[in-house]
Amino acid sequence: MKVVFQHLTKKFASRSGGAKKEVIAVNDFDYEIPDGTLVGLLGPSGCGKSTTLNLICGLIEPTEGRIFFGEDDVTDVPCEKRGVGMVFQNYALYPHLTVKQNIIFPLQNLKGKDKLTKAEMEEKALRAASLVQIENLMDRKPSELSGGQQQRVAIARALVKMPRILLLDEPLSNLDARLRLQTREEISRIQRQTGITTVFVTHDQEEAMSISDIIVVMKDGVIQQTGKPQDVYDEPKNLFVAKFLGTPPINTFDGEVKNGSLYIGDEAVLTVSGVADGKVVAGIRPEGFIPKADGHFTCALSQVEVMGRDITVVAKHPAAHNPTVRAIVSSDNLSAINGEKVSFDLKENKVFLFAPDSGERLF
Ligand code: ADP
Ligand code: MG
Repeated sequence: MKVVFQHLTKKFASRSGGAKKEVIAVNDFDYEIPDGTLVGLLGPSGCGKSTTLNLICGLIEPTEGRIFFGEDDVTDVPCEKRGVGMVFQNYALYPHLTVKQNIIFPLQNLKGKDKLTKAEMEEKALRAASLVQIENLMDRKPSELSGGQQQRVAIARALVKMPRILLLDEPLSNLDARLRLQTREEISRIQRQTGITTVFVTHDQEEAMSISDIIVVMKDGVIQQTGKPQDVYDEPKNLFVAKFLGTPPINTFDGEVKNGSLYIGDEAVLTVSGVADGKVVAGIRPEGFIPKADGHFTCALSQVEVMGRDITVVAKHPAAHNPTVRAIVSSDNLSAINGEKVSFDLKENKVFLFAPDSGERLF
């Protein structure tokens, strides 16, 4: 089921120090989530991710705009009639009910022709439980489960009605690092197995990049860029998106374009034809550096971190925005990198230029 946003806007009245202000949590969304995809909704805390999910599931009403599921306009349809399953960060399980009773819970309020017998409910619960592989935990209480198991119960509960759309709001934040990795693979597998259009909210770019078919990057209630994770990483539209994606993050520098060359400090580090002369912000991905004795980009070497296959060259440059510049290069270069300075050539496709004022991409 595709989900379509038309000029979707949500404003909240907010109070700060007695003064009334308006927060535009979701600002004029025009976007179509394709049927059957896993979309990662990504952005820093407070950018409007949860508000977007709550609008999709109908927990809150938009100030302006419409939401469609397929061809159905659901803007005025109440939450429980929309056929969405929702999973929250804090699981929100009923502590006094068993796993089975928790999963069955959404089925118990079905009325009229949708009403199910006990046996039918149990069968559906078992099917949902087997999707997340907790069939053997059905008689336990939530307090007898690990965090990862509790989150699986919450996912099973969201799946039990076979929703048209599955919404997950930072579902992995309360799990430890290893379980986070495992559970995100599970979510990806369940999504592929069921084909349910899924919106996965996270502030963790790595998490979103790793499992999403499409990512939607948000800032201050505004969609910045949408696309396949690799495409957005390779072709960021602005400085915010470039900085938000990638670990370690992109290195940024004050630069200047003069006669088709990019200058960082006194050095002409790259040919950039077609860019007007003027000041720029230059972004260089950590993998964009090639160590070379006579390279055109010279930094003061701070240290080398060995990671096995790769090494991280940690360096300093007076034009850099951050205290350190991080370059990830093959460990074959290890013996050649020593002394006080390190020089690089740059990979053109890993260097982006941005307008200093707007942050819009120039190159
Ligand atoms: P995220 O989930 O990306 O962290 P939210 O969607 O929760 O962000 O919030 C977006 C913005 O809207 C924030 O500035 C937040 O303070 C504000 N906001 C969210 N819910 C309310 C509310 N019920 N009343 C007032 N402001 C709200
Ligand atoms: Mg949130």
